[in-house]
Amino acid sequence: MIKNDYSTAADILTSSRKTIALTGAGISVESGIPPFRGKGGMWEIYDPFEFAHIDSYLRQPEKVWQVFLSELVNTLNQAKPNNGHKGLADLEAMGRLSTVVTQNVDGLHQAAGNSDVIEFHGTFAWHQCMSCQNRLETHELDLSALPPRCGCGGIFRPECVFFGEMIPPDALERSNQLAIQCDAILVVGTSASVQPAAMIPGIAKSVGAKVIEINLEETPLTHRITDVFLGGSAGEVVPRLVSELKVRG
Ligand code: NAD
Ligand code: ZN
Repeated sequence: MIKNDYSTAADILTSSRKTIALTGAGISVESGIPPFRGKGGMWEIYDPFEFAHIDSYLRQPEKVWQVFLSELVNTLNQAKPNNGHKGLADLEAMGRLSTVVTQNVDGLHQAAGNSDVIEFHGTFAWHQCMSCQNRLETHELDLSALPPRCGCGGIFRPECVFFGEMIPPDALERSNQLAIQCDAILVVGTSASVQPAAMIPGIAKSVGAKVIEINLEETPLTHRITDVFLGGSAGEVVPRLVSELKVRG
């Protein structure tokens, strides 16, 4: 593993025929969305298993909304893509990045302009009625009484993956396939501790792909499989990597 070597990272991206990215909550921190773990993370305030587990939602949806989801709706409504998201969109426009696999549910990669985004943990942009499967965009929900209810009386749930739930099979299958096909993977702002998403870089590495990791701090991947570690915030590091590539033409 080498650290903060932008030239080597750019070499890897230049010679790669297919590059994918795996992103986590860290890339959206500079958009004002707190991550789960680490400093300022939501888990300093909330117990994840109390509020992000499907059993809790089914048992006490009102409480999960009051303590956790109402605030998440407000935060996501205000969030805009930052320079980290925009940098990944630039890489796609330059033909250097094909797909973003994201663990985030905030829709900011699509807003930044990436055209192929796999939402590994679903999305918070939509809700579905647990009784009749009617779907509604999150901004259309009536939140005057919690939990939000459908006309049929059923309770809406976000279309994101709670702890205790399966990854959408299409997302899992395609991500694994891309991991096997790619020559390089950018791993941005993820603590690499939520499975099975955290396995994607390892799958890529096992078939010979180079791993470029961008994070404020080292992760369990750093000394195990990372080839180049670029330390710093995604909003600073990704644009710097883009500039390094642009200089090469
Ligand atoms: P995580 O919260 O476990 O870890 C965040 C990682 O980002 C840490 O390694 C941290 O060092 C790093 N980081 C923090 N700020 C950064 C920055 N500015 N630039 C670069 N790196 C930075 O995140 P995770 O691994 O994605 O796992 C959390 C799970 O929670 C995800 O699976 C996701 O579904 C969900 N989540 C999503 C959002 C969102 O949609 N934005 C927000 C919080 C949690
Ligand atoms: Zn319904």
